[in-house]
Amino acid sequence: MRHFPIFVDTRGARIVVSGAGECAVAKLRLLLKTEADIHVFDAEADTTVLDWAEAGRLSYHARAVEASDLDRALLLYAANDDEGLDLPVAEMGRAAGVKTLVVDNLEASDFITPAIVDRDPVTVAIGTEGAAPVLARKIKAEVEEMLPVATGVLARIGQGFRDVVEIIPQGPRRRVFWTKYYFQVGPKAVAKGRGAVEAALHDLLTDSVNEAQTKGHVTFVGAGPGDPELLTLKARKVLHDADVVIHDGLVPAEILELARRAAGLISVARGGFGPSGKQEDINALLTEHGAGARVVRLKSGDAGIFGRLDEETDALDEAGIAYDIVPGNTAAVAAAAAMGVSLTRRGRNSSVQLLTGRDLEGFADHDWRRLAAPGAVAGIYMFRTAARFVQGRMMMHGASAETPISIIFNASRPDQRIVTAALRELPDLLEGAGPAILFVGLQPHQVQADAAPIAALN
Ligand code: SAH
Repeated sequence: MRHFPIFVDTRGARIVVSGAGECAVAKLRLLLKTEADIHVFDAEADTTVLDWAEAGRLSYHARAVEASDLDRALLLYAANDDEGLDLPVAEMGRAAGVKTLVVDNLEASDFITPAIVDRDPVTVAIGTEGAAPVLARKIKAEVEEMLPVATGVLARIGQGFRDVVEIIPQGPRRRVFWTKYYFQVGPKAVAKGRGAVEAALHDLLTDSVNEAQTKGHVTFVGAGPGDPELLTLKARKVLHDADVVIHDGLVPAEILELARRAAGLISVARGGFGPSGKQEDINALLTEHGAGARVVRLKSGDAGIFGRLDEETDALDEAGIAYDIVPGNTAAVAAAAAMGVSLTRRGRNSSVQLLTGRDLEGFADHDWRRLAAPGAVAGIYMFRTAARFVQGRMMMHGASAETPISIIFNASRPDQRIVTAALRELPDLLEGAGPAILFVGLQPHQVQADAAPIAALN
C-alpha cells in the first residue's frame, strides 16, 4: 500500500487550487464539500468558478499562484490541465512543504483523491493506486447502492442520540439497537422526515430497555457435590436454557457440558478469573450479563451454604435484576450418603451443625462447648487450614481425644475417599487432592456398628 488512506480535518484549512478551467472545476466540486477555505488562482476562470466566488463559497484570484500564496496551506492542487504550467506549480508546492496533487499525474503528486461515496457523515473512499479506475467506479456504484442516500441523514440523527443510548449497556444489546435503527426502523421513517426518525428512535429505545427488564434474569443453581447425576432436573433445565453460565472452580466439566454450545461459559474460579476471583468482579459480571441475558450462576453443592450467595443477590437487588434459586445437594449430605449413614439419628443427635473452618477473619469461631458435647454431629467445610485450631478448641472445651471423626474427600466423585479416625489424629490426615469435608461424631456405617460407644446409644 503506497498510498495510505486517512481522513484529514479540513475545517478552516487553506486549500489552494492552481487553474480555474474545466479540470479545476471537477476537483472543486469535491473540495466544496469540505469545510476548507479555498483559494483559486488563474488569469481566466470558468463561469462556474466565478459563480462560486460570487456565492462566497471560494476566493478567486485572477492571477497565477505565487509562493507566498502557499503560506500555511494544507493542500495544493495543480489543475491547469497543462504540464508546462502544473509541474512548476508542483515544484513551488514542494518547496513550500505543501502536499501537492497534479491532476492526472500520479508520479508528480504527493497524494491522490480517491473515488468517494458521500453520505456525510458516512464517507467511503475507494482507491486503486491509480491502477484500475474502472474497478474503482464499479465499486463506487455498488457501495452507493448499498448505502441509500438516507444513510447520511440517519447517521446525523443517530449521532445526536449517542448520549441517550448509553443507558443500554455496551455490547450485544447496544449493537442490536443500532443495527435495527440503521437497517430497519430508520430507513422506513426517514421519508416522513426528521421528526419521524426521532420518534422511531425513541420507540426503539423504550423497547430495548423494556425488553432488558423482562428478559434479564439470574438463576442461582446448586450444582451438587460433583456427580452430574446428583443435579436436580430443574438445574439441568435452566442450565440448558442459559445464555451465560458463570461458574465456580469446583463445578466439574461434565456438568458444564450440559449448557448449550452457544452459551457463554465464564469461570470465576480463583486464578481462572482475573488475578483473584474477587467478589466485586463476580458481582460486576452478574449485573452486566444479568441485565440482558438468562444467566445461570452455578455454585458447587448448594448455593446457600458457604457460597457467598447474599453478596451476589444484594448486588442484583441493587441493580434491579430479578433472580431465583435452585437448591442443590450440599457436600455434607453427599458425604453422609457416601458413608451410608444418616445425619441425624433418634437417640443420638437431634440436630446437626454445618460449620466452616474459615471465615473472612481467618479461623472461624464457634460454640465449641456444643461441638465438644458427646453425640454432637457436625460437618465442617473448608477445614484443612483450620484443622489444628478446631482440634485444640474442641479438646479445650471437653471433647475426648477419641471422638470419632471422618474426612470425606471428593464426595460423590469417582475419586471419593473416606478416612475414619479419632480426633487426636486429625492433623495427620489432611493430605489428599480435591475438596474434602470433616465430620465430627459421624463415621461410616460399618465403623459405627463396631464402635461400642455409639452403638450403645441406639
Ligand atoms: N456450597 C458448597 C460449599 C462451598 S465451600 C456446598 O454446599 O457444598 C467449599 C467447600 O465445600 C470445600 O472446601 C469442601 O469442604 C466442601 N466440598 C465441596 N464439594 C465437596 C465434595 N465433593 N466432597 C467433599 N467436600 C466438598
